[in-house]
Amino acid sequence: MNANLLNSAQTPHILVLGMGGTIAGLAANPEIKPLDYQSGQLGVENLLGHIAQAVPEGLTLLSTQITNLDSRNLAESHLALLGRAVREALASPMVLGIVVTHGTDTMEETGAFLQFACGKHAQNLGKRVILTGAMLPANVLGADGPSNLLDAIRWAASPIDNCPGGIFAVMAGRACMALDLAKRHTTALNALVKDSPSSSAGLINPSWLSGVKAVEAAWLEDLPIPDEGDWPWVEILTSHTGARPETIRHWMDSEVDGLVLAGTGMGGLHKVWEESLGLAAAQGIALVRTSRAGSGEMAAEGNILATGHLSAPRARIALQLALNAAKQAKIIGKPLTWQDFFARIADLPKIQ
Ligand code: ASP
Repeated sequence: MNANLLNSAQTPHILVLGMGGTIAGLAANPEIKPLDYQSGQLGVENLLGHIAQAVPEGLTLLSTQITNLDSRNLAESHLALLGRAVREALASPMVLGIVVTHGTDTMEETGAFLQFACGKHAQNLGKRVILTGAMLPANVLGADGPSNLLDAIRWAASPIDNCPGGIFAVMAGRACMALDLAKRHTTALNALVKDSPSSSAGLINPSWLSGVKAVEAAWLEDLPIPDEGDWPWVEILTSHTGARPETIRHWMDSEVDGLVLAGTGMGGLHKVWEESLGLAAAQGIALVRTSRAGSGEMAAEGNILATGHLSAPRARIALQLALNAAKQAKIIGKPLTWQDFFARIADLPKIQ
């Protein structure tokens, strides 16, 4: 391991937080079956050991393992741990920037969570949090993890005048806001960073940068991170040919707090849901509407709040944080509803 990795937390450093994923994965038979592997097998320190020789001279890296999982198995408690670690690191004068190594399957949710819970902190403190991962496990030929990790570290450490503080992601040489990152292919090396225009990781594109600044200017305040046990229960339901009212009624008999309804086209919902959705809303279940189409704007239609351009997984995180924020606001006597908090997210501009 490079001596840079052994310095103490009292030295200005880049903090690398490990969450697991394919970047930390190992294939049992790497030459014959590279995609037959287990995620989350190597510790984050081990990942840094692999790239130690290529880390820019004079840069100190420290790491913390938050969890080491296949990201399909993440729970809200892991997001809360990560969010708190990121806030704490942002507040430390010794931390210059933060990199998060993460599974690609649910980076979309974690990216949105970090933006809504830590985005303003990062911006105000002028530090970058960079999510990255890999599509190939660490022990196969052409593994993409080391180059992604190096790109993330270099960007986290690069001068603030190149690009403001905030929550970003880098994969396959492309950089974007973490809020725009989504997996849109099951295996391609460039499966992510596709949801909006992105920039090259090494050379920030000025028109993308002005889009970043517009999003950051519109994001005025981070939402609280729910305590353990306080995360609202929110499910995603997809409207489709042959939808049944029983689907909604089923959830009305549960303790669910909110439903993200992924509609067709511009967010239209099957008419057989109409009556039961009215009853669900009257019962106090928070309802928001997105589109299963994957990208594009929503139509203003009906009285179920539209989610702007948020995908269903992002809208689910947004609704959880909005419901929790409204609960916290009520405790301190602030007259703000979950709809007020949700609208702050849904109204964020999209980088064009
Ligand atoms: N299933 C893996 C995960 O999300 C996929 C990956 O990291 O690419 O942890």
